[in-house]
Amino acid sequence: LNRRLAEFGTTIFAEMSALATATGAINLGQGFPDTDGPEEVREAAVRALRDGRGNQYPPGPGVPELRNAISEHQRRFHGLAVDPDTEVLVTAGATEAIAAALLALVEPGDEVVALEPFYDSYAACIAMAGGRRVPVTLRPRDGAYRLDLDELRDAVTERTRLLLINTPHNPTGTVLTRAELAAVAELAVERDLLVVTDEVYEHLVFEGEHIPLVSFPGMRERTVTISSAGKTLAYTGWKIGWATGSPELVTAVRSAKQFLTYVAAGPLQYAAAEGLRLPDAYFAGLREELRAKRDLLCAGLADAGFTVHRPAGTYFVTTDIRPLGEEDGFAFCRALPKRCGVVAIPNAVFYDHREQGAPFVRFAFCKRTEVVEEAIRRLSTLR
Ligand code: PMP
Ligand code: GLN
Repeated sequence: LNRRLAEFGTTIFAEMSALATATGAINLGQGFPDTDGPEEVREAAVRALRDGRGNQYPPGPGVPELRNAISEHQRRFHGLAVDPDTEVLVTAGATEAIAAALLALVEPGDEVVALEPFYDSYAACIAMAGGRRVPVTLRPRDGAYRLDLDELRDAVTERTRLLLINTPHNPTGTVLTRAELAAVAELAVERDLLVVTDEVYEHLVFEGEHIPLVSFPGMRERTVTISSAGKTLAYTGWKIGWATGSPELVTAVRSAKQFLTYVAAGPLQYAAAEGLRLPDAYFAGLREELRAKRDLLCAGLADAGFTVHRPAGTYFVTTDIRPLGEEDGFAFCRALPKRCGVVAIPNAVFYDHREQGAPFVRFAFCKRTEVVEEAIRRLSTLR
């Protein structure tokens, strides 16, 4: 393994899901729903396969049906005008969009400022692009993790090329406010930075609202926005994601993407297009279902003795294990399946400053209600 990747080892999600399988524990670690997304979307995939739509290489930027649906979705939910022909790129999940954007936009030695804790692929992709990551740490304040705008400002140097933003934020569940986003946008314009913004949880907001970063003044020409059918349609295994942005930026991202996977699975693109066209009630229903599970799991974790950082968005809740007399999240998560049959993720893996994340542990609540309830019962034995 080369020096760029040597520090990363195996992704925590593979490690913890393998632990769940090996021990039979309830997997509240890796973020994936334990039921399928909408049946009509699955049926659309079956139809596309059967009718031979997309069974051979689809077009490089994605099938027109999906690019149109992404554009319509951006208009319907965010009032954004996105040209389906020049401003949309379909990718193999948001993961590939992140990789392709960083590989396309970062020069070796460039600094990339990212919000810490960060989703694990960010650090690896910045490294693969030869960039240097500069973390800006979100810190718990008044029960939620917030961005310190002065720290963000101080993190930008003349070597900074790009801001890598994520809202709603994994793993903290923070949804950046309008004021925070406006400040990020102002900074990007003032320092002439590119911005990659990972908004895969755009529909999973329980408090406040999701405001696309690209909608702020001066952001259109400098922002790549990323989202995914994995989250929005609850089909994480399909690996259909997308990047949107100015024609120049999308063309750049495509230059990298074409040599990574070339294209994403054809029939599933047609199905994702149908999914994005579902009525508003689907998207609201997904959110409300997860809101109820959030409330259930947060209450259960609090009863079990954890300090709970109640998430405003995503399907994750970050907890502090210190009230349980624990301080090492890694050790805690490795022992948890044996102790009570539950798997969780140690937040330290999302930090460069590992010590900052040490006592925090993330639980996913995108699981059936009875599974969340059983996990709560098991966790309640920890006290
Ligand atoms: N970004 C964030 C913040 C995520 O949590 C995830 C994972 N689920 C991804 C990107 C990757 O999305 P996908 O499965 O579409 O590659
Ligand atoms: N994004 C999901 C999570 O944070 C998992 C994605 C993955 O396994 N790579 O749990």
